[in-house]
Amino acid sequence: MSTALDKYSIDITQLSVGKSQISFLVDNFFLGQYKLLEKHKGKGVVIVHIDKQGRNIMVNLQTKVLLQTMCDRCLDNMNYELQTESNIIFSDDLSPNQENNPSKEFLHPNESKINIANKIYEDIFLAMPIRFIHDKKTSNKCNQAMISLLNAYSSTPAKIDPRWENLRKVKIKT
Ligand SMILES: [Zn+2]
Repeated sequence: MSTALDKYSIDITQLSVGKSQISFLVDNFFLGQYKLLEKHKGKGVVIVHIDKQGRNIMVNLQTKVLLQTMCDRCLDNMNYELQTESNIIFSDDLSPNQENNPSKEFLHPNESKINIANKIYEDIFLAMPIRFIHDKKTSNKCNQAMISLLNAYSSTPAKIDPRWENLRKVKIKT
């Protein structure tokens, strides 16, 4: 079955034994495939270092993406440079992980390809900050006009109908 993320597959039968290197592009299309990334735009590259030893494929991923996203404080556009690295071993050997081993993924003996799309997704997602905020790193300042506007709104707490307030008190007692 062919999917949109097939191009993030590595044909392990074509890999030479030992070390090799390939790269993949991360773009808006890739980000759009994942619910938690789809609100971001971006462009970047994943350098994949591979060390093939029989049916043990050791993979090191170095991901660098320039995300075009929105500042969570002032809502202006901002760029965020994301950089992350991870290791994973694909293996048909199911013996338990040794300590200090990077994560291991089962490689079916008949499998000729490994797909690393989800791994790239995980790496990007885990490297993202909880909130995107303009700071020194993004060499950009928050839109002050927007900040004042947002503050003006948030400093007026929504008025609660006193009857509802009383009803809430009743509910807490029971
Ligand atoms: Zn901002």
